[in-house]
Formats: sequence, C-alpha cells, structure tokens
Amino acid sequence: MIFDVLIIGGGVSGMQCALVLGSGLHKPFAKDKKVGIILHQRASHLQNALFNNVLGLPSGTLGSKILESGKKQLTDNYSSVSQIEKEKVISIVDHQGVYRVRTNKNEYKSTVVVLALNYSKPFSIQGLEDYVMPHQKANLNKDRIQLKNENHFIKKGLYVCGTLAGCRSQFAIAAGSGASVATDILTLWNDGNHVKIHDKI
Ligand SMILES: Cc1cc2nc3c(=O)[nH]c(=O)nc-3n(C[C@H](O)[C@H](O)[C@H](O)COP(=O)(O)OP(=O)(O)OC[C@H]3O[C@@H](n4cnc5c(N)ncnc54)[C@H](O)[C@@H]3O)c2cc1C
Repeated sequence: MIFDVLIIGGGVSGMQCALVLGSGLHKPFAKDKKVGIILHQRASHLQNALFNNVLGLPSGTLGSKILESGKKQLTDNYSSVSQIEKEKVISIVDHQGVYRVRTNKNEYKSTVVVLALNYSKPFSIQGLEDYVMPHQKANLNKDRIQLKNENHFIKKGLYVCGTLAGCRSQFAIAAGSGASVATDILTLWNDGNHVKIHDKI
C-alpha cells in the first residue's frame, strides 16, 4: 500500500499526530488520503512513566495504560488510520520523492513520513544518519539526540516530532509537537490555507 502519510513511532507525539490527522480526513481537501502509523511501542518512554502533571489526565495515570488507550481512541474515532503493530523500522530511503520505509517484516511507501521516535540513543534507522545531532534541550550527561529540523520540517516530505525533534521531554510538549506536525500536513493539503480541526457541542 502507498501512504500519503506514514507516522513512525507509537508514543506520545506519534499517536497525537495520528489523532489530529485522523480527525482531518473528513475534510474535502483530505479526501482519499491514506494515513498510517507504525505503532511499535516497546521502546516508548511511556512504558515506565506515571503522570500527575498533565492537564486532563487523572492523577496517577500510567503511561503503559496510555499506550493501550491511545490505540483504542484512534480505532474508535478514526478507524481509517491504518495501525501497523509489532514492526520496527530499519531503514528509510528517499526514492524520487517517495519514501521507502523498511521494517523487520515489510516495506511501505509514503509521500510524507513523520518521525516520532524518541531522543534515546542509539538511533538505529538507516538512511537518516546525516540528520542526527546532540539534543539541544536535554541534560548533556544523558547524551540524548535529535534530528536537524526547522520547526519540525527536515526536508520535503520528511517531518520529525516529539523529543526527537528537540523538544524537552514533557508529555504536553511532545503531544503538542505531534499535533503541530499534523496541522502542518493538513495545511499543505489545503494549498497552504491554515487548518485546525475542532469538534463542537
Ligand atoms: C519514567 C518516566 C517518567 C515520566 N514522567 C513524566 C511526567 O510525570 N510528566 C511529563 O510531562 N512527562 C513525563 N515523562 C516524559 C514523557 O513520557 C515523554 O516526554 C514522552 O513520552 C515523549 O514522547 P515522544 O513521542 O517523544 O517519545 P515516546 O513516547 O517514547 O515514543 C517514541 C515511540 O517510537 C517508537 N520507536 C522507537 N524506535 C522505533 C523504530 N525503529 N521503529 C518504530 N518505532 C520506534 C517507540 O517504541 C515509541 O513508541 C516521563 C518519562 C519517563 C521515561
């Protein structure tokens, strides 16, 4: 299958990006767009986290629960977003304007790729080595990394969000970064006219 957008990483920024993109798929400019997310979650920082300081999350919410409830929220509300589970991305190659994303099990093609991995080392995806740099907003002793980008944009069709984009590691910041990339992509599809997706009572 060829995707219009393929999000890589099923943690905070990746799932938030998928939710906002999914919520925009009913718009005329997004008609027939195919969005997918590679929901590898084993390496997510959510696995061991516990939250008391995130607006809207009940105190004591476990990150491991959000990994599950996030997938369900995506399925229940935006089932047209393809969820690809239990696959890890190995390489990404730009082939004449289309990205070839190889996992340990399959190969996918996508016009736009959103990298939503986190800032942990080692960064093992082949094809992106030139963009890796030391993280600019993390403790130097922790030796974190980010990808070179300008406001989440790396190059045509390639975006990064969350801690890998250089954000500080806070749930709300990572989520906002994923939402920001989603609205950038929706805006692109809407010929540069700015897009936000709101539901109303
Ligand atoms: C112990 C702990 C406690 C925390 N407590 C708080 C807190 O109280 N308040 C707060 O605001 N923040 C807290 N945080 C920070 C918060 O969890 C992170 O800021 C947030 O998870 C970062 O989101 P992210 O999308 O950048 O990365 P992640 O949520 O880690 O998501 C990255 C995703 O990429 C996937 N991935 C990695 N490699 C590949 C690959 N090759 N192919 C496909 N997928 C891949 C991972 O499996 C994961 O699903 C805590 C973090 C930790 C570790």
